[in-house]
Amino acid sequence: MLSLTNQVIHCKAAVAWGAGQPLVIEQVEVAPPQKMEVRIKILFTSLCHTDVYFWEAKGQNPVFPRILGHEAGAVVESVGEGVTDLQPGDHVLPIFTGECKECAHCKSEESNMCDLLRINTDRGVMIHDQKSRFSLNGKPIFHFVGTSTFSEYTVVHVGCLAKINPLAPLDKVCILSCGISTGLGATLNVAKPKKGSSVAIFGLGAVGLAAAEGARMAGASRIIGVDLNANRFELAKKFGVTEFVNPKDYKKPVQEVIAEMTNGGVDRSVECTGHIDAMISAFECVHDGWGVAVLVGVPHKDAVFKTSPLNLLNERTLKGTFFGNYKPRSDIPSVVEKYMNKELELEKFITHEVPFSEINKAFDLMLKGEGLRCIIRMDA
Ligand code: NAD
Ligand code: ZN
Repeated sequence: MLSLTNQVIHCKAAVAWGAGQPLVIEQVEVAPPQKMEVRIKILFTSLCHTDVYFWEAKGQNPVFPRILGHEAGAVVESVGEGVTDLQPGDHVLPIFTGECKECAHCKSEESNMCDLLRINTDRGVMIHDQKSRFSLNGKPIFHFVGTSTFSEYTVVHVGCLAKINPLAPLDKVCILSCGISTGLGATLNVAKPKKGSSVAIFGLGAVGLAAAEGARMAGASRIIGVDLNANRFELAKKFGVTEFVNPKDYKKPVQEVIAEMTNGGVDRSVECTGHIDAMISAFECVHDGWGVAVLVGVPHKDAVFKTSPLNLLNERTLKGTFFGNYKPRSDIPSVVEKYMNKELELEKFITHEVPFSEINKAFDLMLKGEGLRCIIRMDA
């Protein structure tokens, strides 16, 4: 592959100019990778609800103009100074939270919250020099969570790239770059249901259904799906969800409905909605004595979690996770192998596909609650 390490690349990128405004495909300039950075060519990207929150900027700080996108499959184009473990041509998944491999978090078995590269949604620049690598007519365009994958080329810190099996089809494994790994890891690495246990999943989008998939893989016997959108229930049957609850169908709080269905509460719950009321219900619906609830959804910036401390004294555990506690570089290559070995099916999460020129359609689908993941093909 032709490497242009020292040259600026001119390419197409979908720029978000303002909150809620349709993205505009622009010809942007992408600067060469600096120290510990890698420039990658995005082949496939997909839309996660987190992109939509920061595009709408209703419950998040507005940072514009910005290139969004964080779920993608890519090939390394060139590497900057100090990068030794990647080279042009390598297949990678960019990850919104990184792994420097040197800090206390990276050295701990229990954390993926790297000191240097952990998710920072308000930063729109590269860590090395606090500057953007994107520009348009000489003016900078901000980055998003260190990835900005809605561009034909983007620059990413080496610690935010998982090098994967080059045989893995990037149009499928790109969804492991965020949503599916997050949901799967939230269950397998954090909630850790025992065989035969009951698990409630709040929010049956791609993240929640990946959490359900994790529950199925762990041998859960009851998987209760909770969603306000009844259209999700048919789709969710393919993911081993055994029962469905729509909070709109009941007058009492959904945690009470679940407690009645399960003789006191579920063994585990995983919240994948981003809504504070669902987060509280997900916690309060776990069984006292042993229940564990895991929060995954990205909350409104002013959201406050309110519950009686007695719910904790009664031996319920509340946890939260970014990226399913996976360490991006160390763990994601083996999640890709689970797909290659057919232990994990990805096709059923991919319900739509659009060419890059029609990226706004992917936003419309997500806003309407239609489908799970929409793959955006960069070459079309
Ligand atoms: P999605 O929009 O496809 O799915 C969310 C689902 O939740 C929808 O089906 C919606 O109807 C449902 N929902 C909304 N409010 C609800 C409520 N009060 N009760 C029950 N169901 C409700 O989104 P997604 O891409 O699957 O992402 C899910 C969440 O996970 C988002 O908040 C996203 O930002 C977050 N996320 C977190 C991480 C992380 O690392 N923690 C990573 C990726 C995504
Ligand atoms: Zn995401």
